[in-house]
Amino acid sequence: MPEHHTPLIAAIAIGLALAFLFGLAAHRLRVSPLVGYLLAGIAVGPFTPGFVADQDLAHQLAEIGVILLMFAVGLHFSPKDLMAVRAIALPGAIAQITVATLLGMGLGLSFGWDVGAGLVFGLALSVASTVVLIRALQERRILETERGRIAVGWLIVEDLAMVLALVLLPAIGAALAVGAATGIGGFAGLVALTLAKVAAFVAVMLVAGRRVIPWVMHYAAHTGSRELFRLAVYAVALGIAYGASALFDVSFALGAFFAGMVLSESQLSQRAAEEAMPLRDAFAVLFFVSVGMLFDPRIVVQAPLAILATLAIIVLGKSLAALLIVRAFGHSWGTGLTISASLAQIGEFSFILAALGVSLGMLPAEGRDLILAGAILSILLNPFLFAALERGRARIVRAPSPAAPAAARVAAPDAAPGPVVAAPPAPPPPAPAPEERPEPTALAGHDVLVGYGRVGSLVGAGLRAAGRPLLVFEEGARAVAAAQEAGAEVVVGNAADPEVLRLANLPAARRLFVTIPEAFEAGQVVQQARAANPAIEIIVRAHSDAEVEHLSALGASLIVMGEREIAHRMLEHAAADPPPAPPLAAAAPAEAPDSPPPAPAPQPRPA
Ligand code: AMP
Repeated sequence: MPEHHTPLIAAIAIGLALAFLFGLAAHRLRVSPLVGYLLAGIAVGPFTPGFVADQDLAHQLAEIGVILLMFAVGLHFSPKDLMAVRAIALPGAIAQITVATLLGMGLGLSFGWDVGAGLVFGLALSVASTVVLIRALQERRILETERGRIAVGWLIVEDLAMVLALVLLPAIGAALAVGAATGIGGFAGLVALTLAKVAAFVAVMLVAGRRVIPWVMHYAAHTGSRELFRLAVYAVALGIAYGASALFDVSFALGAFFAGMVLSESQLSQRAAEEAMPLRDAFAVLFFVSVGMLFDPRIVVQAPLAILATLAIIVLGKSLAALLIVRAFGHSWGTGLTISASLAQIGEFSFILAALGVSLGMLPAEGRDLILAGAILSILLNPFLFAALERGRARIVRAPSPAAPAAARVAAPDAAPGPVVAAPPAPPPPAPAPEERPEPTALAGHDVLVGYGRVGSLVGAGLRAAGRPLLVFEEGARAVAAAQEAGAEVVVGNAADPEVLRLANLPAARRLFVTIPEAFEAGQVVQQARAANPAIEIIVRAHSDAEVEHLSALGASLIVMGEREIAHRMLEHAAADPPPAPPLAAAAPAEAPDSPPPAPAPQPRPA
């Protein structure tokens, strides 16, 4: 069996291939692909027949996923953001951890376990999975909104608390066993030492890392080698995560987060680093596969009630606590619902805690199985929970918005300045929507603009200046705010998603401008729009002949190819305003082409 000699390759190849197949199936069935990845993990796990991947390797691959994800999260997070949410994230996370730990402890005691076992169990139930949370926020494009930032800040605090817990657990175990033999002094010393290490790491990052890391990136960029630049990104992310854990006993995740955050201060390196991270998603998938691998399905039959109680603590207990805390701090119900949905699951930290608890003899093995089952089930449930809570949130947020179009209100990042009302005055909101799906815009005869970046913002400004009613689709928080400021109604989300594009009310729209750079997504928008309204004029951005052909086949009316337009503009300039002849002009006829290339060639839509 060759895979015995190459267990790493086997784990990656079979894990990714199965995750792809199960993920596709999940997508077809309209559930989150995460479910598919977990099932793929169960399939390659030791409890199902067939190929069994190396568990230890799978675990390490998953850690790489955690590192890259947290690095990317750090890239979008500035120290300012972190400070801005500390007022809620710090007390919120601590209160939630306390509530969840007490609930878990109570459940453990009811099983007849001792206090130490209950403590480990409760702590494991109290901390959410980084990967699950980030993916959920990314998928719904709320990572960069105010509530997204609170959720991430909350997660960082949980992460710090777990770093502390992992260090203290052996001491607590010993104290409980020997009857407080270590004494308060020794205990306090351990806490102080751990905090000092974390503080030292943060200080090193903020003082030295802040100078060195951006310098390294710029240096790598100036070599002109894309390969070296990408290498720099991975070296910084993985190197700092590893160094943080080896030198300061800080978790990989926390180390990577700080590395990303330090890099985020320069916009240039932030963008570049982001583009250099295609490996991230692949490794995040391996994380879910490795979680699935740990699951022994038999426990479902053996201890169903205990599993249900565990799940209730994770999904109901934690959510309720988070919701009440967020509300108590004066944030909206909507923010509260997002935060509680984000945190209503457990993951990698819980496994680490459980493993440590078992090896210290504090936690019985069945406790670990319950934690695993709770993790799998809560991760499986999370997308559904999120969808339900987000729906509730959308309803709550859009109900009291008489002044602004509903979609724009849903769209507004919580902290963004109130959206400027688009002309014409928005209609009164529909009576609190009876059920779920948001209504399409009430605009008619309007222009729809997809993307509000370098191209879209210029188009939008022109349309608004002409007084056109305008609906914008955009995903980025900054661009959304800019579009709102320009007086457009905004829908936040991926316009290629039929559920999102539906909000455009295309049958009543006059024109559609697709200004996004990615031709596959643009093509999907064009195709759906053409199907929804055969008469609408569709104007699309493209970058190559192949894209022009693709978009025109899908029904675009006019395709503007960026590169061609740039060339024409240059030639136009040269023709209209001949520069004074340079000394050697006679020898350089090439500067004035005698036969200009064909006129700008917008492609008409084939009949
Ligand atoms: P630029 O290339 O500067 O014109 O920016 C393109 C803009 O389009 C960016 O602000 C993106 O956030 C946005 N964008 C890209 N793809 C989509 C999409 N599928 N749906 C909505 N907005 C998008």
